[in-house]
Amino acid sequence: MNTECLFCRIVAGEIPATRVHEDELIVAIRDIHPAAPVHLLLVPREHIESALDLTDLDARLVGRLVAVAANLARSAGIADGGYRLVVNAGVDGGQTVNHLHLHLLGGRAMQWPPG
Ligand code: 5GP
Ligand code: ZN
Repeated sequence: MNTECLFCRIVAGEIPATRVHEDELIVAIRDIHPAAPVHLLLVPREHIESALDLTDLDARLVGRLVAVAANLARSAGIADGGYRLVVNAGVDGGQTVNHLHLHLLGGRAMQWPPG
């Protein structure tokens, strides 16, 4: 755990968040500033700074993130309508919290290309 890291502290329970899923690899929470009617963040328990740091050894974690997102989309009732998964990486990618996370967005039609 990185004690300076917001998402490490949320995973550890030091900072409150609404948890919608937990398993041995990830915790999913509601985004504090939702950008869509459904906006969840799937956060690995392990502190990985960004998608840039992922390797083949993380294949199980990445698979779990995408599969849990599908289950959460079903539970939230947005699976049939469709949803978007986003990983922002680095400054130009718009990453503001330097602990890898997958955004699950849905409940409205998304624009393309994204801003
Ligand atoms: P990023 O910009 O790094 O891809 O996404 C970070 C996300 O974390 C943003 O959507 C932001 O609203 C969310 N966020 C920032 N601080 C908190 C917090 O304290 N609690 C929760 N639940 N979400 C947060
Ligand atoms: Zn962290």
